[in-house]
Amino acid sequence: MNIILMGLPGAGKGTQAERIVKEFDIPHISTGDMFRAAVKNETPLGLEAKSYMDKGLLVPDEIVIGIVRERLAMDDCAKGFLLDGFPRTVPQAEALTATLKELGREIDHVININVRREFLIERLTGRWICPICGASYHTLFNPPKEAGVCDKDGGKLFQRDDDKPEVVAQRLDVNIAQAQPLIDYYAEQGLLRNINGEQDIQVVFAEITSVLRG
Ligand code: ADP
Ligand code: ADP
Repeated sequence: MNIILMGLPGAGKGTQAERIVKEFDIPHISTGDMFRAAVKNETPLGLEAKSYMDKGLLVPDEIVIGIVRERLAMDDCAKGFLLDGFPRTVPQAEALTATLKELGREIDHVININVRREFLIERLTGRWICPICGASYHTLFNPPKEAGVCDKDGGKLFQRDDDKPEVVAQRLDVNIAQAQPLIDYYAEQGLLRNINGEQDIQVVFAEITSVLRG
């Protein structure tokens, strides 16, 4: 099963992705996670991406397309994949369609998680992440059992630099501007399924699995 998970920053993509890949046993491909790993390891890709990420801007299409193309060609994607945070622009979506065509594959489902802007700000500024497994928590909506510590592996939770209030609004605006043409692109292909992301995490997950099992 080849899936795209779409939604603005804070919509719950990472939270749902973690559950979906476990349920369907497919790799989770998060371009945000790939860039954060590259930044942490100070690779040339990371150094280039960091200047955009720190400002809440999108990394240029050709860079993102290049890393996704390489990732999709890896063996573990043969059984399917979940793309999280990619594509984010129409040129990225067109490049993805072309890449999959070369590989003799196509997208099966596009899940778009919808959450209003005012809730997104609240979610992003309260988000805390595990440096070991990437799980995301929220101080109010999804707190860990012990404050500041990951339930799964005891990792010490941290806040992303781009989740600080001064960057969040800019990041949302940049993403909102790109989102509608992308939604239209997949709606025209009859692939888009909208999910109300303002419900409980478990309810959102149940609705997504019901679409995927469709
Ligand atoms: P969120 O989980 O909050 O939606 P991500 O972790 O997906 O955010 O992305 C973090 C940052 O990484 C983005 O603000 C952007 O700078 C960069 N990035 C990730 N995916 C893409 C993409 N598909 N195109 C351009 N930039 C991207
Ligand atoms: P994204 O990957 O789309 O940026 P995340 O999955 O990291 O979003 O979720 C953003 C924040 O919102 C996290 O703190 C997460 O714990 C919280 N969250 C995710 N889903 C829900 C939900 N359905 N209701 C309330 N909070 C949620």
